[in-house]
Amino acid sequence: MSFDIVCFDCDSTLSKIEGIDELARREGLGEELVKLTDAAMNGEVPLEAIYGKRLDLIKPNRVAMEWVAELYITELVDGVTDVFAELAKHNKVVHIISGGLLPAILPLAKLLNVPETNVHAVDVYFADNGDYLGYETDSPLAKNGGKAAIIKSLHAPNLVLIGDGKTDLEAQQTGAKVIGFGGVVNRKLVRENANFFVADKNLTAVLPYIL
Ligand SMILES: [Mg+2]
Repeated sequence: MSFDIVCFDCDSTLSKIEGIDELARREGLGEELVKLTDAAMNGEVPLEAIYGKRLDLIKPNRVAMEWVAELYITELVDGVTDVFAELAKHNKVVHIISGGLLPAILPLAKLLNVPETNVHAVDVYFADNGDYLGYETDSPLAKNGGKAAIIKSLHAPNLVLIGDGKTDLEAQQTGAKVIGFGGVVNRKLVRENANFFVADKNLTAVLPYIL
């Protein structure tokens, strides 16, 4: 099966980190918030139940955002740059669809030559001095069902999404196929429900399913 449009989740798929969890740790907010993220990715609680709660506690400012943006890049999953080079060679249209924070993900997207218009994530607002003002509360990506909404808006009949979590499986509601990536976190729910599943630590293992 060959796909024209290839979408990637970001956290625990392109990068080994969960950005919001790293921001929480940086603020000393520790494991409680990490457990919340994991519960959402395992489908135990809806994403919207935890999204605002985490950010209201962390209040990530501009400096924190730049810090985590760098971490996304240093913790890149093995094979990611090879995968994006190969997709470009085959003229595939690539999108990043993430429930993470847009300013943290854009530098990684730039590194992978993904145009800004193809990066879908939750925006964050700052005051002039860099203080955190809030997030894009009406973003579909801060809720369950958001990835399906973004994929619908792309109007692409032949689309595949690669991701590690419960919210990535939602792409199937649109008729898209999902490749579960278990190279960072191997989740039973995804292993059992994705159209294909790859447990390899190197992302290049997904290429045979895409090209
Ligand atoms: Mg993920």
